[in-house]
Amino acid sequence: MSQVVTLEQLKKLAADKLSAGARVVAPVVDGGLVSFKEISDAAQATFAPQVRVQNSIKEFFFPKHEVIFTFVRKGNDVEVIDAPDFEDDQIIIGARPCDAAALPILDPLFGWDYQDRFFQQRRAKTTVVTFACKETDAHCFCAAVDGGPDNQAGSDAMLFDLGDGSFEVRTFTDKGAALFAGIATESDKTGSACAPPTCDFDVEKVAVWITENFASPEWEKLSLRCVGCGACAYVCPTCHCFDIVDEGTYSKGQRVKNWDACQAGMFTLHASGHNPRSTQGKRQRQRLTHKFSIYPGKFGPYLCTGCGNCSRSCGASFGVRPALEALDADVVQKQED
Ligand code: SF4
Ligand code: SF4
Repeated sequence: MSQVVTLEQLKKLAADKLSAGARVVAPVVDGGLVSFKEISDAAQATFAPQVRVQNSIKEFFFPKHEVIFTFVRKGNDVEVIDAPDFEDDQIIIGARPCDAAALPILDPLFGWDYQDRFFQQRRAKTTVVTFACKETDAHCFCAAVDGGPDNQAGSDAMLFDLGDGSFEVRTFTDKGAALFAGIATESDKTGSACAPPTCDFDVEKVAVWITENFASPEWEKLSLRCVGCGACAYVCPTCHCFDIVDEGTYSKGQRVKNWDACQAGMFTLHASGHNPRSTQGKRQRQRLTHKFSIYPGKFGPYLCTGCGNCSRSCGASFGVRPALEALDADVVQKQED
């Protein structure tokens, strides 16, 4: 037997969690776009598995802007006050499997040489409910990087649309089972995800080329379209670059962590004026080398879930899938001929 919830039960679940004081995050229609947002009323949410959301749920684990501590000068002393712990329960409903899959990829990064309590506390307090995909588009390539339309990684529970205003619920963790306990009812209906997206390039072969060709002139050719806006990094579930700055006055202020992006020209600009990544080719090389060589070399998985958010959001019709396709066609396949 399967477990099933109706759309109305899902909305009531969100409403009940809000009433209990939890933070609830869901897709919200906003100015013609659909974005993941913290909601204050269940009616704000759009629970539809076919809806494509433009941002990633990563910002509810790793916010765009986050205070690390505040400081106050008292005479010759400085008092430092740590930012409070993240103690609220947080429920995310309606993520994609390729978005949730980034969370276990990022766990070792935020728990490696420095234990990032901000990310870790949010991970511990958050339950992630995904929708199994019903359709793919030309930007998706999850199946090429160990994912898929019903990939369980990072999901506490997954909803499969039954097409009649209800969803089969599959739970994968204690948090997922606890969320739907007493709500889901037994049924003989089962749902399914769509077929995986097709992909005619070999990521492993391109990754080998990336690792072995740091000095290739292909990098500049590849990046001619890229204007360095950084949009691809901000919508990416796995990109995690940030900088740390002090804001305030001599007497008081705060130290904050802000998102940054390796595609921005000033990202590596030194105070001396020297920039080790002085061209867009060098910056694209960094992005692709980090995702397909450095990160898997250190932690195992590629730093990419094949979600396609980067190319979907790129004003220049670029992003990681077009870059991998170009490298496959222009260098990998020619090497093999
Ligand atoms: S690849 Fe596209 S989105 Fe990313 S920095 Fe270049 S132009 Fe911007
Ligand atoms: S690099 Fe692009 S396809 Fe890969 S996880 Fe990031 S946004 Fe998704």
